Amino acid sequence: MVSDSEVRTGVFICDCGKKIADVVDVEELEQEAARLPGVCVARRETYSCSKAGLRDIKEAVSEHSLNRVVVAGCTPRTHERLFRTALEESGLNGSQFEMVNVREQCACVHVEEKASATRKALDLVRMGVAKAALLQPQERVEVEVTPAVLVIGGGISGLTAALSVARGGSPVKLVEREEGLGGQVARLHTLYPTGESAKEFIEERIRAVEEHAGIEVLTRAVVRDVDGPVGDYRVAVEQDGRTSQLNVGAVIVAVGAQELRPADTSDYDGLRVITQLELEQALEEGRVQACQVVMILDGADEANYSPVSAAAALKNCILVKRANPASEVSFCFADLDAGLGRTEVKEARELGVRFVKYDRRQPPRITGGVVEVFDQLQTEQVSLPHDLVVLALPQVPQDDAESLARKFRIPVDDRGFFLEPNTRLRPGTYVPEGVFVCGSAHYPSDVQESVFQGYRAAARALRYLSEGRIVSEGPPARVVETLCIGCGTCVESCPFQAISMVDRDGALNLSSIDESLCKGCGNCTVVCPAKAIVMEPYTDRQLIAQIEAVLAEKPDGELRSIGLMCEWSGYAAADLAGAEGRQYPPQMRIIRLGCSARFDPYLVLWAFLRGADGVLLGACDPGMCHYVGGNERAEARVEGLRKMLKEAGFDPRRLHLEWFRPDDAEKFVEVVKEFTDEIDYLGSAGIR
Ligand code: SF4
Ligand code: SF4
Ligand code: SF4
Repeated sequence: MVSDSEVRTGVFICDCGKKIADVVDVEELEQEAARLPGVCVARRETYSCSKAGLRDIKEAVSEHSLNRVVVAGCTPRTHERLFRTALEESGLNGSQFEMVNVREQCACVHVEEKASATRKALDLVRMGVAKAALLQPQERVEVEVTPAVLVIGGGISGLTAALSVARGGSPVKLVEREEGLGGQVARLHTLYPTGESAKEFIEERIRAVEEHAGIEVLTRAVVRDVDGPVGDYRVAVEQDGRTSQLNVGAVIVAVGAQELRPADTSDYDGLRVITQLELEQALEEGRVQACQVVMILDGADEANYSPVSAAAALKNCILVKRANPASEVSFCFADLDAGLGRTEVKEARELGVRFVKYDRRQPPRITGGVVEVFDQLQTEQVSLPHDLVVLALPQVPQDDAESLARKFRIPVDDRGFFLEPNTRLRPGTYVPEGVFVCGSAHYPSDVQESVFQGYRAAARALRYLSEGRIVSEGPPARVVETLCIGCGTCVESCPFQAISMVDRDGALNLSSIDESLCKGCGNCTVVCPAKAIVMEPYTDRQLIAQIEAVLAEKPDGELRSIGLMCEWSGYAAADLAGAEGRQYPPQMRIIRLGCSARFDPYLVLWAFLRGADGVLLGACDPGMCHYVGGNERAEARVEGLRKMLKEAGFDPRRLHLEWFRPDDAEKFVEVVKEFTDEIDYLGSAGIR
């Protein structure tokens, strides 16, 4: 009979085919893991996440009465949920699982340093086993999914999604901030590549939405706030100065994109120099009289190249030429997507559209009556006379995309577009359940793709609602009543107003956390003077156990730093560095934090006292924290601690905070290299 308090851990070392085994000595890992406290079984697996691998783990759980499982394999960001589900099937609480990332953090990034990669992997396994021993089973909370969907954005993608959900039988609230529905398509002349009338196409869909009894349309309305647990979102929407609350189980974000506004320094005047969207409107109204048209596809920034803008520009050159065959139309571009419709390119050439390729470092110059440009195709400087210049500017995210992303905790890419929930950077578990994104909110998409994405988001939302109930893990942060001294410090610290004080018998009040509001940022655990708030799986004891596990085995003469990495930024960037095989020095051991708000100066002091030579904190870019300013709180704490360290005669350069974006693997590698060089230069901190 196994007592509840006895820790029985199984460690499964994954070869990942040969991805891990080719670099890390997995046999040594297996032998060392077997010797760690509480470990009853340590075993190698070729592919732990395969059916056979999962079956072996489940069998070991019952054969050895395991109550903790550690898998040393790839990143928890992609595989943690799979293993947790498997463990739950074998009767173990899924929260008693820890994943150790030896693939992205060792095998992929220290290819030429096999001994160091193995030593680092050993440390990571020690850290995982030490933390696992302290994991507490989390209570599961069942939430009923509210059978309604909120669609944000009334463009083609949002209209498609709303109609599709409503036809699937679920009520829809459609929120659009503009006066009318239709989005950008309503401002187009014809659609590419079908050539059909944009007006007829969109009006038919608008009508269908407005006439559907299951769809409530709110125009001139914006989302102000989002609350409530997953599956039962309460969304505050402001319309005409009044705020109402919508209760929905799922949310589809379909806010689209917008045409980049011409820079103040450009020659745009809205008359002779106009944007592509303005040309579309002029074509629709039959106002294009120009005989000499120069279309300039913006090539200022390679990253902003959008095939959709290029295709629309080409389509419009053809339309102008068709309307007036005698006109002279030039199409200037720095890049053209190889996939751009061959038929359209052929037709444009046959109609006499002149193609002019320019060097992005020498963009076309608009002077009085001509556009001056060096044509790389003809290798000559040309002067293109014009009575109309059209600037085909890229599509960029909507102005409010970033604030919406923060409200719904949806990650964005480096341009500000919402990331696909299932990209490698951001696996589905990182976007709150029941939140879906479609259309150009992801990346500039043409009408066909936007429609397809609208259908897809609707299908996902309907499937989600059909589950009826969802089970999620219990409240992230919890007050230990016997420790709380009722000071109230935590109340103000919570960015989600999840904490209040309640009466308790005796003289002191007691802090109470509303589990439906707590998002698990960890800020309250740091500020509480009595350390009375714990938050799994980032409790003080668990984090200290990880630090101890690294430093207790630090060999004499070696330098060791600790990387405390927010999983939304630094940890994700480290994953990507691994996936891309970028190499960096092996001295740092990474500890995952849910948010940099969990950064606790005591942890750093503890790490230094136990022999760490440096601590690097990785947080989201300013303004990008998913927990409302957790990164800014972390910055203030780092600054305060650096000051304190300096006053104590300890070199503050040993503590460093860096901002990361999740997709900035290059920066991650550079920062780790620079920080390692700095610590090498400073030498051992000399405390232990
Ligand atoms: S993907 Fe992850 S769990 Fe699956 S075999 Fe590779 S390392 Fe192991
Ligand atoms: S963990 Fe964050 S969200 Fe939860 S109660 Fe504490 S401060 Fe609030
Ligand atoms: S800060 Fe800590 S001790 Fe003070 S009320 Fe909150 S939980 Fe209790």
